[in-house]
Amino acid sequence: MVEEAKKRLIWLLKIEGAVRSEDVERALLRVPREEFVLPQYRDEAYDDHPLPIPEGQTISAPHMCAIMCEAASIRRGDRVLEVGTGSGYHAALCAEIVSPTGEPLEGIVVSVEVVKPLSYYARDNLVRAGYYDRVHLIVADGSMGAPVRGGFDRIIVTAAAPQIPQPLIDQLDDGGVMVIPVGPRWHQLLLAVRRLGERIEKEAVTACIFVALRGKYGYS
Ligand code: SAH
Repeated sequence: MVEEAKKRLIWLLKIEGAVRSEDVERALLRVPREEFVLPQYRDEAYDDHPLPIPEGQTISAPHMCAIMCEAASIRRGDRVLEVGTGSGYHAALCAEIVSPTGEPLEGIVVSVEVVKPLSYYARDNLVRAGYYDRVHLIVADGSMGAPVRGGFDRIIVTAAAPQIPQPLIDQLDDGGVMVIPVGPRWHQLLLAVRRLGERIEKEAVTACIFVALRGKYGYS
């Protein structure tokens, strides 16, 4: 039973400390992860591990999505940028947090993906899951930031970067937080990067391994 498996997963994530806020718990409960995985993996949708998606990419493990949302302290009404749409699942979680289902639209999620067919895959998933009204998809090199005007309250980067891309720091509003895996190709540290005026504060959240960021500020 999908609902039982989902409740069990959330219970585990709370015990482990990956889920700390009601907002993240609600998002995990409401967003149907089975709609974002490939049909042959539906039975594993609520197991806590990454799964393959098209184009050789992966949908992150649920605990990593939760840890990133908590570390970024995404809240209702926020303007969120995601770099690396992939399946669209993490974007849907963010959308549920910033603009809960069934309530007037508030915040918005802009999600940038460099691989066009994946953006289409995510679009179909988001439509089926009922989140396409709160997620704006863009095909571009997100290491350069989003090709939109204005900054963001929160930025999550779901691919590993050798360094923090400067254009992403530039697109972070004052008081904003970015969560990004940074380091060598095969092991990274998830960093929470806070912008306070011209000052940038960095805090290590956890060790992690993500797929590689491509593009101008990706690995050469
Ligand atoms: N957040 C996704 C998981 C993403 S996997 C989910 O919930 O399913 C990382 C994604 O980042 C891949 O889809 C990859 O194609 C994308 N990516 C890599 N480099 C990128 C770049 N420079 N700009 C935008 N997307 C990028």
